Amino acid sequence: MQVRLAGLSRESVTDGPGMRVTVFFQGCEHHCPGCHNPQTWDRDGGSAYDLADVFGLLSDNPMISGITLSGGEPFLQPEAALELAKEFHVRGKDVWAYTGFLWEHLLKENDPLRIALLRECDVLVDGPFKQAERVPGLFFRGSANQRMIDVKSSLQQDKLIEWSL
Ligand code: SF4
Repeated sequence: MQVRLAGLSRESVTDGPGMRVTVFFQGCEHHCPGCHNPQTWDRDGGSAYDLADVFGLLSDNPMISGITLSGGEPFLQPEAALELAKEFHVRGKDVWAYTGFLWEHLLKENDPLRIALLRECDVLVDGPFKQAERVPGLFFRGSANQRMIDVKSSLQQDKLIEWSL
């Protein structure tokens, strides 16, 4: 399976709790004004990788606590993102994902692959970046409208439960 990526960080401390592998997916249709990564918007940009090669690049550092699926928009390549998420769960690590889509949109749209990816996430940071709601120093988010959602609890209780440190 092929995946198109903008980049990869093997040891990030800014994209979720602990030290994490962050995978930046290429392609984003949200085009948020003030986006820090506009080079990730073009779906034909970045570089194409075989997913097996990406697994080979991933750190086996025991200090790594999880993977963060970022972008760009991971939900534009849900099949590859799902495989990465599953691999990290097999390794006993957690999975965070950033999306410009809203939680409610993903549930209502009910796309089977996107829902499968959603279910594989532990925490989903949702919604577009909004300059007007930008708060410097916010934990793991660019703007205050973005929510850190505890995916498992939210699905179990059928209501949005926010994750907190
Ligand atoms: S969703 Fe993220 S990557 Fe996409 S335009 Fe908005 S801030 Fe940029």
